[in-house]
Amino acid sequence: MERPNQPADIARAAIRLLGSRRLPPTPDNFQRAYAEVAGEPAVKPKGGDAKPVPAKPELRWADAIRPLIKQWEAFHTGLTQSKKREMLERVLINFGHDSQQLYDKLNGLARSWAESGSAGSVLEEAAPMPAAPPAGSGIPSANLPTVQRDASTRDLAEPALPDPWLLLRQALVGNLHLLAESCTLRWPDLAERTGHLADAMAACGAAELKLFEELAAIWREVLIRSEDDHELAIGLRRLVGLLFLNLGELVGDETWFSGQMVAMQALIDGNLNPEALHGAERGLRELVFKQGVIKGSLDEAKEKLRTLIASFIDRIGAMSDDADGYHARIGEYSEQIGQARDIGELSTVIEGLTGDMDGMRQALRRSHGELSEARAQAEQAEQRIHALESELAQVSNLVREDQLTGALNRRGLEEAFTRELARADRLVAPLTIALLDIDHFKKLNDSLGHQAGDEALKHLTRVVRDLLRPTDSLARYGGEEFLILLPNTGMDEAVQIMKRLQRELTRQFFLHDNDKVLITFSAGVAERAEEEDQTALTARADAAMYRAKAAGRNRVERG
Ligand code: GH3
Ligand code: MG
Ligand code: MG
Repeated sequence: MERPNQPADIARAAIRLLGSRRLPPTPDNFQRAYAEVAGEPAVKPKGGDAKPVPAKPELRWADAIRPLIKQWEAFHTGLTQSKKREMLERVLINFGHDSQQLYDKLNGLARSWAESGSAGSVLEEAAPMPAAPPAGSGIPSANLPTVQRDASTRDLAEPALPDPWLLLRQALVGNLHLLAESCTLRWPDLAERTGHLADAMAACGAAELKLFEELAAIWREVLIRSEDDHELAIGLRRLVGLLFLNLGELVGDETWFSGQMVAMQALIDGNLNPEALHGAERGLRELVFKQGVIKGSLDEAKEKLRTLIASFIDRIGAMSDDADGYHARIGEYSEQIGQARDIGELSTVIEGLTGDMDGMRQALRRSHGELSEARAQAEQAEQRIHALESELAQVSNLVREDQLTGALNRRGLEEAFTRELARADRLVAPLTIALLDIDHFKKLNDSLGHQAGDEALKHLTRVVRDLLRPTDSLARYGGEEFLILLPNTGMDEAVQIMKRLQRELTRQFFLHDNDKVLITFSAGVAERAEEEDQTALTARADAAMYRAKAAGRNRVERG
């Protein structure tokens, strides 16, 4: 290959040579490479006699190249390494034929890179484009329209590359608006949050970390809610299927039918979420099961009873008929015995009597057999009823809701916790829990009665449920203790939610005999640490809750 003789070509070849040898482009290395490419004697880096490489001795190339290399190695906002390479190539191509111009442009390039400012974080690296390069530097500015460029750079004109951050921002803002719009009806809270983010994105000049954190949080929230929606659809299909399965049984029994239809209607009209749906499905399943069991057992019992009664009546009738017949016949035999003139006649009478007695014995044996069989059948029916009853008890054990409040019970909580831990791991999303315990609940029970205590628990559940998001879960953890799972939620937000809940209880009083009763609670909030399991996380929330009690109650403590 021909040796380059233009300084620009030599410089370019020198840079390539450094790259191919994986040498850092320090001034010394560059000078050596330049000399090698130009076929000049090697330059001694320091204190040597050799003159610097530049073709024209009056140009101090080292002074131009040193800052260039320094800036080459530095991070700059909006300037990637390939972008820098492209800019350097352009200068070399366009000004390589003129040492003086090349010298000036290289200086200008280093200055313009330096003025781009260095980036503090990876995200900021994608910040808006650097300030316009200094006039005369000859450096095309990617984010300025071509018409604004320095006249001297017009010959470099290539279509201006759009700023990646601006493009990304534009796309993000557009998509966030679309998302906000599509969330409006179903998830107004998310629509509002997304709208705020879109506005903040549109207004910000540089990529800000907190905006991207919010974007990631919204993203996860959408994922979680869509997953729930999917579950919802599956649950609905199961529920409707179950209802229709049951319709056959319900035909002709209008109270059952209308009762279930009302429940379905309430469910569909209400705040439909997977938890409510699962609850309704379980309720209906139990109902169908219980109904089937009761109906089946009743039918069976009735049938047995009917058979038994019929068989008794038949037997009694037969026996009475037999008895009447035997009575009449014994009367006849008695007459015949009285009128018998010889032993021959008497033995005929006795034969008749013996035959009739045999018949009577057989009839009695038959009756006994039939009655024993009926009794065995009755015992079988009883056993079947017992078996069905124990099956029913098992179904009740599978119930996941607390009967009093309708919140999840411990079994339901286990399931929800497992699901949320797995989801938090999969989506790398935060998960925070809150454990709350009603303050001085014993006093409320003692002064207003246990029944009022029960109503207070129901009231609290209602208020909490209304305030929580559809993705949150509420479980009754113990007597007057509740555990709340807050997926995709960090500590600060969770604490805010709990405080909002406390305020809400001061607005929505529990009414007992028209008296307003204030319910307060103490809560411990814990955000799940990486790979923390359910036991450890709950223990931290529990400890924090006890701190809240110790600190005077009616407060929220961080675990
Ligand atoms: P603290 O502020 O320390 O939590 O006081 P407290 O009175 O709330 O706590 P304590 O544990 O001493 O009492 C809890 C009471 O909750 C005792 C129990 O009778 C009552 N309780 C538990 N479950 C139920 C329930 O299902 N219904 C009613 N009415 N009361 C319940
Ligand atoms: Mg307690
Ligand atoms: Mg308590």
